Formats: sequence, structure tokens, C-alpha cells
Amino acid sequence: GSVFSHVARAPEDPILGVTVAYNKDSSPVKLNLGVGAYRTEEGKPLVLNVVRKAEQQLVNNRSRVKEYLPIVGLAEFNKLSAKLIFGVDSPCIRDNRVTTVQCLSGTGSLRVGGEFLTRHYHQRIIYIPVPTWGNHPKVFTLAGLSVKSYRYYDPITRGLDFKGLLEDLDSAPSGAIVLLHACAHNPTGVDPSIQQWEQIRQMIRSKGLLPFFDSAYQGFASGNLDKDAQSVRMFVADGGECIVAQSFAKNMGLYGERVGALSIVCKTADVAGKVESQLKLVIRPMYSNPPIHGASIVAAILRDRTLYDEWTIELKAMADRIISMRHQLFNALRDRDTPGDWSHIIKQIGMFTFTGLNVRQVSFMTREYHIYMTADGRISMAGLSSSTVSHLADAIHAAVT
Ligand code: PMP
Repeated sequence: GSVFSHVARAPEDPILGVTVAYNKDSSPVKLNLGVGAYRTEEGKPLVLNVVRKAEQQLVNNRSRVKEYLPIVGLAEFNKLSAKLIFGVDSPCIRDNRVTTVQCLSGTGSLRVGGEFLTRHYHQRIIYIPVPTWGNHPKVFTLAGLSVKSYRYYDPITRGLDFKGLLEDLDSAPSGAIVLLHACAHNPTGVDPSIQQWEQIRQMIRSKGLLPFFDSAYQGFASGNLDKDAQSVRMFVADGGECIVAQSFAKNMGLYGERVGALSIVCKTADVAGKVESQLKLVIRPMYSNPPIHGASIVAAILRDRTLYDEWTIELKAMADRIISMRHQLFNALRDRDTPGDWSHIIKQIGMFTFTGLNVRQVSFMTREYHIYMTADGRISMAGLSSSTVSHLADAIHAAVT
């Protein structure tokens, strides 16, 4: 017999498993609203024009293309990524007290950040919102942190449980790490207002908590890169320390290139340099150094004014299409007189609508309408198009009546 015969079959990933099930369905009307990847009106994956142009540049410029990168990745990419999230004139960049290292997209950045904290930070407790992206608890637990949660979403109001959030942060032990979604909270689509962010900031600073931002959707939420970075910048402007995991999967459509960055904002340049030296010790035995292609694409776009401007236009178009899908779905349910208040569909922000549909309704929609989504009722608005809205609205209507 096999030495592995005792190995039990693991369940599919709750998010990526939705696509596995979708792929097995032979229905012509099947619809995948599970995974958060952008699709065009025609339901096709999109490679941005600026990405094509940047790749063309890389092909034309033959130097050094397949060499190893340093452990911390492409230096120019790191600098430009920091400017993108913190702002070109950010005090942490000016004072050279931020270290930015290229990692494997958002997930890899979270993992490297988590491992660094386990080794070098005095408080190993991280608070994550309820609910949150399903991978967060696993990433941080495996990084060696102890995961606790804070209240975030109120299913009754389908909005932020702001009081619960502040209470839970207030009772967190001093120094605890707090995971915050920089914008477009996944899966709820509910973000704090600027006034609420300011109160969260004050609470975090007064309790000496350590903010760890997950920025997976900069520019993708509102269509504006600066607006979507506002929460992070408030925490840098006060001079305090914070950590940011950045992903270029959504906002540049570079999902499979696995390109992202981890930034640790410190009090001084000296500390930032030492922190970077330790980040290298985390990365080297894990994957040695990151891949070169995606980071080269990002750097080519961020360094060139023309490509950058073109990117912001394409980014805005993706964000606008998603917002338009929200209105189309909301209108379609109104036209059907579907029972219930569906205004959260147009109020929520970012890629997902947290519909409020329960597990039973979700499995009904999959069984009867071939619509695939995660069991928590989250649908990816980016997977929807004008031609599929009515099918989805029919399914939701049937599920709730
Ligand atoms: N954080 C959040 C909140 C996300 O939604 C995602 C993508 N689903 C990620 C991190 C990581 O994505 P990636 O590793 O592809 O950048």
C-alpha cells in the first residue's frame, strides 16, 4: 500500500472551490459569481491595454529579463508601490522610514508580514473583522499569530457595527495587531466613513494597537487611487507605525502574476533598515526571492506618466462597470417587486455584494439556476454583466419568495 494511504481528502477551498463546481456544470446559462476576478460585459477576463503596452516594452528591452531578483524584489517597484499607497509626498517616504518589499501578491504580503510580527513583535495577537476574507485566519495562524476577532458587520442594518467595533478594540490587550481592510471590505462591501476611520484611528493609537492594512482593492472601489488609500494615509499622517499589504491583482488585473508589496512604516529610518534586514530572513527560506515579470510590468506603468494616466482611466472604467452592475441588479429586483429591502446592493462598495441570502437560498440558486457563489451569499459584481442580470434577479426573486 501507499505510505500516503492514510491521507484524508480535504474539502475544496470555500472560495476557489466555487469555480471547481462551476467548471463541472454543463448548463449554458451557468454563472460564476464566486471568485473575485474582473470580467468584461462579454463575461471575458480582461488584460488591461497598459499592461499589454508595458509587456511590449519588456520584450523590446531585452536586458536582464530572466535573472533572479534580490530577496526583497525589484527596488524600483518597491519605491513606486510605496508612493502609490502612501502618496508621492508622504512623510514616511520623505523620511525614509518605510521599508517596502515585493511579495507574492496580497496573500504573500500578509503572510510575510505575519511571520515577521511573530518573530519580532511583542504581542502575537491579531484581531480580524467578522466576517472577513476567508483566508485571513489561516494565513495569520500559520504565520504563528493568535487570531481573535472584532465585530464589524451588523446583519440587521446590513451596515457597520461601529459601536461593537470600538468596544472590541477598546477591550483588546495593549499592543494587539488589528487587521483592517483599507477599502472595499471583503466580503461585506461595507467601509467606515472618514469620520469613523478617524475615531478608529484615535482608538488604535490611544490603546497602542498596531494597524495592519490589507489593501487589495486600491482604485477598484471608488475608481480613484487616492480616495481608496485615504484610510491608510490617515494612519501614516499621525506619525505612528503601521503595516500595509498591497495587491496588484485587481487594480492592474495581474491576478496570476502574483505581484504585491509589504510595507512597514517605522518611526525612524534606522529602525526601517533593521526591519528590512529581518524581512529578508523571513523571505529567503520561504521562496528565496519573488518573480520578476509582474513587478516589471507594474514598475513600467507606475514610472511612466502616459501609461500611469492610461491605467487610471482603465481602472476607473472597471470600477464604473461594477457600480453600474449594482444599479442594474437593484433595478431588476425593484421591477420584479422582489420582497425585502435591497438598497444595500447600491450602498456597498467594491467588488462584492453581501446579499444577505442564506445558505439554503444560495444552494437553491445553484441547483435551480446554475448560479455559483460562496455559501455566505457573497456575489462578485465583477462577474455580472447586462446580459446576465435578469437571470440573477430571477434567481434571487425565486429564492426569497
Ligand atoms: N485580501 C483580500 C481582502 C482579498 O479580497 C484578496 C483577494 N481575494 C486578497 C487579500 C489577496 O489576493 P491576492 O493574493 O490575489 O493579491
